[in-house]
Amino acid sequence: MLAPGSTIGILGGGQLGRMLAMAAAELGYRCHVFAPEADLPAADVSAAVTRADYADRGALSAFAAAVDVVTFEWENVDPAAVRHLAQAVPVYPGTHSLEVAQDRMAEKQFVEWLGGRTAPWVQVDSRAGLDEAIAHIGVPTILKTRRFGYDGKGQARIKAAGDADAAWELIGGQPAILEAMVNFAHEYSVILCRGQDGAMVHWPVSVNLHRGGILATSSLPAPALVRAQTADAVALARTVAEKLDHVGVLTAEFFACADGLRFNEMAPRVHNSGHWTIEGSATSQFENHVRAICGLPLRPTTQMSPQIEMTNLIGADAEDWPRLLSDPSLHVHLYGKGEGRPGRKMGHVTRLGS
Ligand code: AMP
Repeated sequence: MLAPGSTIGILGGGQLGRMLAMAAAELGYRCHVFAPEADLPAADVSAAVTRADYADRGALSAFAAAVDVVTFEWENVDPAAVRHLAQAVPVYPGTHSLEVAQDRMAEKQFVEWLGGRTAPWVQVDSRAGLDEAIAHIGVPTILKTRRFGYDGKGQARIKAAGDADAAWELIGGQPAILEAMVNFAHEYSVILCRGQDGAMVHWPVSVNLHRGGILATSSLPAPALVRAQTADAVALARTVAEKLDHVGVLTAEFFACADGLRFNEMAPRVHNSGHWTIEGSATSQFENHVRAICGLPLRPTTQMSPQIEMTNLIGADAEDWPRLLSDPSLHVHLYGKGEGRPGRKMGHVTRLGS
């Protein structure tokens, strides 16, 4: 067990790091953020910050020497950098989780190997390969880069074979997969946390609504179709965590279809669809993640209200802060980001009860 007063290193400096650092502070830990950007919401609430490129070995070595454990809030960190850190300091979750979750193809193959069902997909490595893939999968379909995709970025919808040129250009001609469109009724996520001793807890499942590829709301209780699939989805997510020897929070996103569940993707970290856990659960995803990486026992995830809704504040939504902060039914979280550019997550609000 890492003693309170120890320092947690966080790779990445966004809002997830900010909320992790706040949870860590409650338990008496200090945080040290490592990220390249000038504007770092996590640095505002952390004891120390290193602004450096993730590939800067000198900066990484100094960071490793200054912290007692390392975690990440952003999974697109070069695994070589993480392996470099891991020679000097424990890193949770480990590089295996990171490598699988960074690559949509590796992720799907891994989950299929464990018996999970995904949308039909094929690998696409060239423009000619895209035509072959479209002939195989059919239209409508969706082209996704294997790496660096988030919030709908790195994706292009293809309604007819004639859209292939534009789609290939839109994703920058990168290694990709072509995925069949899933006719889903709902999207939901299983968020679990695995401790260093292998103990696991998971949170009640929220149903997630996306707009323009970006999460808009997460609500509980999930509808009956989702609840009927939850046991299978949780079992699959637990197997994934065990096989990866994952330590910390793991999020698995699913499509609920009339004929059962389909795994969509996973994140080896705390997740936007788990922000409701701050007020809506006996223990937040952030606290249990800190507990896991510090070797502490995990706490229960009991739902604190029958109805919970988390709404993201995206772009100009946050300009409504005077009204939001005056509404006693809302728990308001603002991330301290400067400019409310379209699509940028500026904060979120959570409402317990109807
Ligand atoms: P992703 O980054 O894969 O989570 O995709 C972002 C969002 O696009 C998802 O949350 C879905 O709303 C939608 N989407 C992604 N893949 C598919 C698919 N195969 N079929 C239908 N909708 C999808």
